[in-house]
Amino acid sequence: MTSASLENRASALNKQLEGLDLAGRLALVARLEGKAVFTTSLGIEDQVITAAIGSDKLGIEVSTLETGRLFNETVALIDETEETYGILIKRFYPEQDDIDAFAAKYGMNGFYDSVEARHACCGARKVKPLARALEGASFWITGLRRGQSGNRADTPFAEADLDRGLIKINPLADWDIETIRAHVAAEGIPINPLHARGYPSIGCEPCTRAIKPGEPERAGRWWWENDEKRECGLHVPDAAASAIPQSTPLASSLVR
Ligand code: SF4
Repeated sequence: MTSASLENRASALNKQLEGLDLAGRLALVARLEGKAVFTTSLGIEDQVITAAIGSDKLGIEVSTLETGRLFNETVALIDETEETYGILIKRFYPEQDDIDAFAAKYGMNGFYDSVEARHACCGARKVKPLARALEGASFWITGLRRGQSGNRADTPFAEADLDRGLIKINPLADWDIETIRAHVAAEGIPINPLHARGYPSIGCEPCTRAIKPGEPERAGRWWWENDEKRECGLHVPDAAASAIPQSTPLASSLVR
């Protein structure tokens, strides 16, 4: 599919999805021709989507990026979620060669020292495994919401991802955090216990901290960086790709 046709298709889908509820949005994507993959971080938004996919037995693959630096609570929630909904969550791990290349150049925890090093770590532990998770996919479902940060304020329901040659679907784009919490409580959806301890957004353990009342939802992610740079490269891939050590195998094609 050409870039123009991908964009046209995404635009049409965006309009279709707008008028539907969450179940309707996911069911529509599941019916489309082409493989649909949902990547979950096990955060509260993603648990809402996983619950909908599992409860309705939709033909959508559920995958997660097991970075090797996750909180124990997050790892435990993967198993609990599989049991609750009778689904398989496919784990995608970083490659040891990539971790070794990062550690040799920056040190294992070198991501605190520069934005470049942090993007390189996210590239090795997240962006490259994501490329494997999305192999063969026509649709990539995410839990992005407009209210999560300034970077995400314009998140559409469907958008063309020209780098990856697929359409990204954001079925919770218009949900606010209060609606998410109410839905989780009403449906008894299992969530990460860290949310109740001040972590609205949960990523890798060394790069996530609890936030104070009134702080933005993602203020605890890479808190030592400026706000406009706080993404991991999954949704703004160029930054992560450019920082991955050149000794990393396949470094030039990580986000394709
Ligand atoms: S969030 Fe932190 S530990 Fe995880 S991949 Fe990114 S830099 Fe590395």
